[in-house]
Amino acid sequence: MIKLRNCVRCESDRLEDANVERLREVSGHVFSTVLPARRCGNCGEEYFEGVDLVRFDLAVARALADAAVFDGPAVLFMRKALGLLAKDLAALLAVRAETVSRWENGKTPLVDRPVKAVLHQLVTERATGASTTESYLRSLVKPRRLAKRVKVATEATAGEDATRE
Ligand SMILES: [Zn+2]
Repeated sequence: MIKLRNCVRCESDRLEDANVERLREVSGHVFSTVLPARRCGNCGEEYFEGVDLVRFDLAVARALADAAVFDGPAVLFMRKALGLLAKDLAALLAVRAETVSRWENGKTPLVDRPVKAVLHQLVTERATGASTTESYLRSLVKPRRLAKRVKVATEATAGEDATRE
């Protein structure tokens, strides 16, 4: 919960719990959600948990990616929801930072389907607390050496106990 004794704006202590609708407009679509908040009974200012706002932005980014909306504002929104600088996203995708900028300002539309798939995966995983794709992309910069002999597991692989039977 939001720990706040007094309103930051008017210093009133009349803060109450409220469920507040939040809206985000991206690429001509309005996304809404209802978040828990503390509302000032004096001036009406509303306070949200930062983590809730981040999660909302990731949910919006995911909805955009699910619907394959990758115009400039959508790409910009996805990158910001991921908390990445343009140069960091560029490094993950192995493109130049200027390329990311051109996608975002609409000068060159993003049409590369594999790039869209990776962006979709990045926002989907971040929204669900995973980081498989991002970690893998980072590992590709400096891959670990694979041993000559490698033991792998599949669904059908017998476990240690089964082997002993
Ligand atoms: Zn206030």
